[in-house]
Amino acid sequence: MSEQQVRVRFAPSPTGYLHVGGARTALYCYLYAKRHGGKFILRIEDTDLERSTEEAMRMQIQDLNWLGLHWDEGPHPETLKDMGDYGPYRQSQRKEIYQKYADQLLEQGDAYYCFLSDEEIEAQREQAKKEKRPPQVKSPYRDWTVEKALEFKKTCPTPPVIRFKVKDEKTDYVLQDLVRGDVTFPSDMVGDFVVIRSNGMPVYNFCCVVDDALMKMTHVFRGEDHLSNTLRQIMVYDALNFEKPKFGHLSMILGEDRQKLSKRHGATSVNDFNEKGFLPEAMNNFLALLGWSSPKAQEIITMDELCEQFHHDRLNPASAVFDEKKLTWVNATHLRQLPHAELWNRLQPFFAKAGINLSDDPAWQNKALETMKTSMETLTDAIELFKPLSNEPFKVSDKAAEVLSWETTSAVINKWIELVSAKNELSADDFQEILAQIKTECAVKGKQLFMPIRVAIIGEPQGAEVKLLVPLMAKQELIDRANQCLN
Ligand code: GLU
Repeated sequence: MSEQQVRVRFAPSPTGYLHVGGARTALYCYLYAKRHGGKFILRIEDTDLERSTEEAMRMQIQDLNWLGLHWDEGPHPETLKDMGDYGPYRQSQRKEIYQKYADQLLEQGDAYYCFLSDEEIEAQREQAKKEKRPPQVKSPYRDWTVEKALEFKKTCPTPPVIRFKVKDEKTDYVLQDLVRGDVTFPSDMVGDFVVIRSNGMPVYNFCCVVDDALMKMTHVFRGEDHLSNTLRQIMVYDALNFEKPKFGHLSMILGEDRQKLSKRHGATSVNDFNEKGFLPEAMNNFLALLGWSSPKAQEIITMDELCEQFHHDRLNPASAVFDEKKLTWVNATHLRQLPHAELWNRLQPFFAKAGINLSDDPAWQNKALETMKTSMETLTDAIELFKPLSNEPFKVSDKAAEVLSWETTSAVINKWIELVSAKNELSADDFQEILAQIKTECAVKGKQLFMPIRVAIIGEPQGAEVKLLVPLMAKQELIDRANQCLN
């Protein structure tokens, strides 16, 4: 028998930005598919009409694209048209399919129309709470035939839901989870659950099963928070006689205070990190290690290496802590390894947004990055570093007034002009030498020396490390700027 092709899906609900937890799930699904020569599928779970938006779907698609987690099947990243043989890939377009399987459950007697109103359900919950029982719905419609229910529906003011009938006899379900090992669920953990809402929309636990089965998923990786849903899903698989995929429930991601990672902890969406100047390769590297470890103990790892090494046996069931300092370190490492032409490209949107215009000479860009990249951890760090080099008219800040009023300042700046003029180009060493010379010849030191020089170069008494900037500036520019300070 030929081995079944691995098919793994990422199934986000488009209710907001892609959260880092979702991104990690997507990454693991992608890596698992790649590692096993399989297919990675994107399915949009948008049956919650109140919370799902087209805009959120587009944003999530953009974020997945930015991470480079390209899917083989699902909505096309630009046109959103279905790619693949198992579509539609948006659940909101699969309503008839779910209805067909709900009808099958009704016919088999594994589901029933339930006419309980919200108030009646609430009253049952209250009662169960009082009696310290789990709040499971006991429906008087459970044993009605479909015919009787359809007849009643004609006159009943409450539109019915379709409820799955959990078997009366108690059994233990054992899930062989790829991450957590055997997990046992007693069947009475759940009561009869809704599969189709009264507005005709299916409920997650139902459509997820129908889709995973019809789309021939072999593996389902998702957050541990879905573990309790899995029991309901197994019941639906069994009732519909569908083959089950293998499940792996991933550990939670916690903030540094060991609480579930949320907005309170600061940036939590992939888009936040994109805007903060993190690189997708660093994000993938960092997220991969939140709950998985490389068999070669690599802390810095490329996407190709991840695709080669990823397997579920190294997924860790213990919660992982999201450590932004580590992410920053991973990012700095990847950033400094990028070829300069590539790094320059990645910086362009950040420079453009900050209104920074720089030389288009590749040799200059190369030299500038060589000097500056060791001071950069994220792409946004480049903004402050490069601002003084922007091709804009030089301005002396008001903050420089005090420094310019010191008695010794004009002598220092004049000497600076004289010594710079005598050179062709200024290396970092030349700059140090010139400073030493000014120190002796003008008999100044400390603040009296450094602040006037900084003002002469960047127009500000505080800020950028001028010794990095000087070798990147034309001699004439340095002289012009210094002269402007003397006026
Ligand atoms: N739409 C669900 C979510 O976003 C998917 C869960 C699953 O992978 O089954 O949490």
